[in-house]
Amino acid sequence: MRKPFIAANWKMNKTLGETRSFLTEFIPLVQDVKDIDIIIAPPFTSLQSASELIRNTNIKLSAQDIFYEDKGAYTGAISPVMLKDAGCTYVIIGHSERRQYFKETDEVINKKIKAARQHGLNVIFCIGESLEERESKKTLDILKMEITEGLRDVHLDGVVVAYEPIWAIGTGKTATPEQAQEAHKYIREQLALNYGDRAKEVRILYGGSATPENIDSLMNCEDVDGALVGGASLKADSFARIVKFKRQ
Ligand code: PEP
Repeated sequence: MRKPFIAANWKMNKTLGETRSFLTEFIPLVQDVKDIDIIIAPPFTSLQSASELIRNTNIKLSAQDIFYEDKGAYTGAISPVMLKDAGCTYVIIGHSERRQYFKETDEVINKKIKAARQHGLNVIFCIGESLEERESKKTLDILKMEITEGLRDVHLDGVVVAYEPIWAIGTGKTATPEQAQEAHKYIREQLALNYGDRAKEVRILYGGSATPENIDSLMNCEDVDGALVGGASLKADSFARIVKFKRQ
């Protein structure tokens, strides 16, 4: 049985004060939730403060990115050691916004995943196709390529995969449960080719305009084990409702 996993990706949102207000409201809303991994990924500047606020709660901390070197002359970069020092146990790697705006390649993503795992950080590894790729029926090829390249020489331990169709991110256009299930099933099959039965245990999250309104139907899909949530994670009540999804 795969433990559900619900993660908030705040992207470039929330000051320290806003992080504090969110958590002050959010922690009591989910304090009784058991058997679900609840993760928040604030911007770097809020990590340490968030880490202190969630101490002794059921919430875990993730960064939104990482660099693959431990230290040195890499202006603006943050190392795995620094993320652990700030209280992170997870890191998001390969988000489509990093691929698009920061030109991250599969090779760089693979290096980041390896560095994170070497330091014991768990990884939320994002993959997904663009609208153009979906319309030209390349979705499954893209997923296959991103899995193969991103996870090259990586064990699955500590890795959660997030299927995030780019056309659904921040657009209000959610994948239908059927579209999500098809992609998730395919991802699991691809993982099984490389990792055998271990693939059955890997959590595969859906990301792309997940909301309190559509989370229940998405979570009903057999291979959807959780969600990576952007916009709807910025308000405590909305994210708490997503954490408290209902499966039929
Ligand atoms: C994301 O950026 O990971 C995401 C899923 O965003 P949104 O929920 O806003 O589509």
